[in-house]
Amino acid sequence: MRCYLYPVEYMPANYDVSIQGFEKRTPCHRIVGMDNVVSLPYGNKPKPVPFPHFPSTLHAVVWRNWDIVDHKRIAATLQMSPSDVFSIGTSMGLPLPQRLTNLKRKRIALTIIRRNWHLLPYDQLLQLLDWTPSELEFTLREDDFLYVKLGNHKPDCPAVHYRPQTQAELSACANLRKAVNDAFPDGLPNNPQPLFQFIDDLSTLPAARVAPKASTLSPRYCYSYFALYGDPLLTPELDPYPNGYVAELSRAGVDGVWLQAVLQKLAPFPFEPLRADKHEARLKSLGNLTRRLAKQGIKLWLYLNEPRAMPKAFFDKYPHLKGVTEGDWTTLCTSTPEVRAWLKSSVTTICKAAPDLGGFFTISGSENLTHCWSHGQGAACPRCSILGMPAVVADLHKAIQEGIDAAGNKQRLIAWDWGWPDAGVKQTIESLPKEISVMSVSEWDTPINRGGIPSTIGEYSVTITKPGPRATRHWSYATASGHRSIAKMQAANSWEMSAVPYIPSVRLTAEHAAAVKEAGVSGMMLGWTLGGYPSPNLAVVAEVGAGASPRRAMEAVAARRNGKKYQAATVQLWDAVSDSILEFPFHISTVYQAPFQQSVANPLWIQPTGYKSTMVGFGYDDIDGWRAVYPPQIFAAQLTKVSDAILAAVARVHEIGYVSAGLTQDARYAEAVALAYGSVADQTRFYMLRTAGKLSSRAAHQLLDREQARAMRMLALQAEDACIGFEASNQYYFLRMDLLEKVINIADVRSSV
Ligand SMILES: [Zn+2]
Repeated sequence: MRCYLYPVEYMPANYDVSIQGFEKRTPCHRIVGMDNVVSLPYGNKPKPVPFPHFPSTLHAVVWRNWDIVDHKRIAATLQMSPSDVFSIGTSMGLPLPQRLTNLKRKRIALTIIRRNWHLLPYDQLLQLLDWTPSELEFTLREDDFLYVKLGNHKPDCPAVHYRPQTQAELSACANLRKAVNDAFPDGLPNNPQPLFQFIDDLSTLPAARVAPKASTLSPRYCYSYFALYGDPLLTPELDPYPNGYVAELSRAGVDGVWLQAVLQKLAPFPFEPLRADKHEARLKSLGNLTRRLAKQGIKLWLYLNEPRAMPKAFFDKYPHLKGVTEGDWTTLCTSTPEVRAWLKSSVTTICKAAPDLGGFFTISGSENLTHCWSHGQGAACPRCSILGMPAVVADLHKAIQEGIDAAGNKQRLIAWDWGWPDAGVKQTIESLPKEISVMSVSEWDTPINRGGIPSTIGEYSVTITKPGPRATRHWSYATASGHRSIAKMQAANSWEMSAVPYIPSVRLTAEHAAAVKEAGVSGMMLGWTLGGYPSPNLAVVAEVGAGASPRRAMEAVAARRNGKKYQAATVQLWDAVSDSILEFPFHISTVYQAPFQQSVANPLWIQPTGYKSTMVGFGYDDIDGWRAVYPPQIFAAQLTKVSDAILAAVARVHEIGYVSAGLTQDARYAEAVALAYGSVADQTRFYMLRTAGKLSSRAAHQLLDREQARAMRMLALQAEDACIGFEASNQYYFLRMDLLEKVINIADVRSSV
């Protein structure tokens, strides 16, 4: 997730910017940890949402952590014995727990935080995570806007401790067990694929190396499918790019990958040298990584969002570097020679340490507060107010480019136009040094009409096939002033559905890539943090880049992937998914706020929760937030239309009988997408019925039947393939316990209406 700061012209009308931002985190909860005193944010301390399908919060904690937290740790957190944890879990009908290695457990912290956010107070959450307060504070603040995704507040949860169960609770547990057993009379799927199995699979080198075809489009770069935020260059055991995975990406036609980078962590920081502690070790590791990737024809790109703002106290010592202030942070003004010199020398240091590095790309108009105009407040800086935004952005990029030049290497710099205000784009591009490429989100501003509702695509859509007016305009400015252009697109998936590694709408990707190539761009960023899986979607982009038409690209990839025998069936499925998903009711608020990622695991609430949905976090029951510009009936109808059409296409694949592994995988992800859309449609209808006072109607009960069937089917799909439910920057959106929880949630709704 990147863009919660919208450029003003793309801001949804009802979007409340005032709640965005960690700095508004009062009141705070001060916890004295082992390392220091940190302030964990509380926001307005709302009452947690109820989960009445559990006998008590204790039961909910046991249930939700069953497969992913060591039972000894659950027991210690709740002040009970591991055998009590086990007996409570099994009394509710939970299966034997899955086992996670300690290394894999490190990869699931965000999932643990999210599922306990409404259950446990901070101190117990810390105990469950086995984290210090500062680790949690860092993660909430730095890890891809986690605190924003959680709603900018911490529900005020009372402590949860073991006590002997009451008779009523014991009989409630028996009811849960019965609901689970009734849903799965033959038991749950045996031997579900272990969580994160894909890391082991992708880390195994393929038998034969395939030399990539020459392409006119370069770079074609994507993010790791399973990188962790944090300090990847100092944690080799959590390598985001193991050799086998890199080989698979290369086979899928990718020629670049990217990582976030913070200059203070990679190069000396003369103003406060301690901040650059261990930078030598990181540089060494970066050099090794880039060398290793280069052996497989892959370049590493570093994402820069610089210079990072500093705490206000820093400027007591350096008042002459002070730019503009936002909350607790103040910019290092790039209109001062010292800051530009530091930027330049940092980049030179990195390039010298990693000569195989592909280059850098920047975001300079959103995300963290960086230069004085980065959040539009440059007028408050005495220097940058005079220079204006285009000159400040150009100066920042000049400093980076000079750093590259001084190293004498061939690294490239890509300036992403994200967040540049319309009025200043032309001048900004014209002011950039010619060596710098200009990147624009291809799909942005494309007009659409879905279900009779006119709207525009923001970004994060796989459902368009040619560049929109914004990118076209910006690329023309770039070409006219001698710059190369780069397209940013979502080749494989998007927030339209990111709980699968790719949406098999392969034709749309191929057509989009062909249109982007036709528009004269030289390379592509294939996706943000989601979707860096070696998919057929990435493969068709490479084929198109090598000169194939979209149709030929699909046929070639289908044959390579599934053999001649299943080529036609594969292309047929891709065509059908592509045709269907063009009806998706896109709006940028919808893809952020509606529970497409949680999908069927989002519980149903009989009573209004009062909560607003959060960005790719909690959907709650906020259908007005989900549907954005679409009337609820149309929103639901469009999603059902997509879902039904995809399910029909999947059924045609199943009718063939045994098919190749690749086609099975495509059909599985198509089905998961269809289940998610069908579920969000029915969740929307459920709340329309709730508003109308008709939850006991036949329609409501039929809807509950469908939701239960979806939960069970999604559980089966995830048991076959542990990619289902996972995305790198949010980790597992749902697990089998959540899908089982939906079953007991539905049973509770049935008995209560
Ligand atoms: Zn300034």
